[in-house]
Amino acid sequence: PFDVLIVGGGPAGAAAAIYAARKGIRTGVLADRFGGQVLDTLAIENFVSMKETDGPKFAVALEEHVKHYEVDIMNTQRANKLVEGKLIEVHTETGAVLKSKSVIIATGARWREINVPGEREYRNKGVAYCPHCDGPLFKGKRVAVIGGGNSGVEAAIDLAGIVKEVTLIEFGAELRADAVLQRKLYSLKNVTVIKSAQTTEIHGDGKIVNGLSYKDRNTGELKRVDLEGVFVQIGLVPNAEWLKGTMDLSAHGEIEVDAKGQTSIPGVFAAGDVTTVPFKQIVIAVGEGAKASLAAFDYLMRLPVE
Ligand code: FAD
Repeated sequence: PFDVLIVGGGPAGAAAAIYAARKGIRTGVLADRFGGQVLDTLAIENFVSMKETDGPKFAVALEEHVKHYEVDIMNTQRANKLVEGKLIEVHTETGAVLKSKSVIIATGARWREINVPGEREYRNKGVAYCPHCDGPLFKGKRVAVIGGGNSGVEAAIDLAGIVKEVTLIEFGAELRADAVLQRKLYSLKNVTVIKSAQTTEIHGDGKIVNGLSYKDRNTGELKRVDLEGVFVQIGLVPNAEWLKGTMDLSAHGEIEVDAKGQTSIPGVFAAGDVTTVPFKQIVIAVGEGAKASLAAFDYLMRLPVE
């Protein structure tokens, strides 16, 4: 069996693996797609100590760093079940059962998509999901934010300080964000709010985004907004569906962890975007992965001698 089995090979899982392997304990990483979300990222300009890199380069660096240590990497394998016990079991979709004294779950999250024509085609070519990451790329330009919940309104406020104009598009008749955020939003001169609007398509010239169409849900009329960027802010889905009923998840489906990354199951830790830890960023996922790994090591040291 493993001493530490890490499920997930993104920044959090990679950091956890490095920290565990450096303790000289038996470490395994099970990952559906080693690298994680950074594989879908173009420019990364906020990973502290690196002025600029890109996602694929960052993913290669993660893998090289992990492979520098004795870590058993099992790539392109998905976990679909966790079973509590003296040895914790992780089952894979192919029917394999891996056993470990401790487990770190770092399965990350995915942005909820609006599923309209143009969204996939122009991803990273004007369609963005993370204002902290990509906001500065739209300096002086016109952008839309889709979604009037807290994350959409926060994104619009954030972007208004960087870009020329922000159009916030909300499907419902009212914004769903907290009143303080809405007050702040409406005080900004370069923000336009459009409600009861269903985004129907993101347009581009084949290379980059140049507009967005929406249907006015009151009149049925189709309208177009010319712009250079679209931020989709309709939620982040944690990859924790497979753990429902096994451990405590929040109302949003995130794994509940304490300050050490401990979940509701002894010996099972979690880190990164899949957890309740706020602000989903690479630098945060890396820190949380390291922390969960040190916590797992702490747990192993205290296991009774056999
Ligand atoms: P992830 O990166 O999501 O990795 C999860 C890992 O778990 C993957 O290996 C996945 O294959 C695996 N996995 C999932 N489910 C299973 C399963 N059932 N079994 C086995 N393996 C599984 N952050 C920044 O700090 N700066 C940026 O510039 C930036 N830009 C971004 C741009 C885009 C387009 C996106 C989508 C995100 C961006 N982010 C950025 C956010 C950042 O990528 C995430 O915060 C970070 O990757 C989270 O790391 P993680 O390890 O928790 O999860």
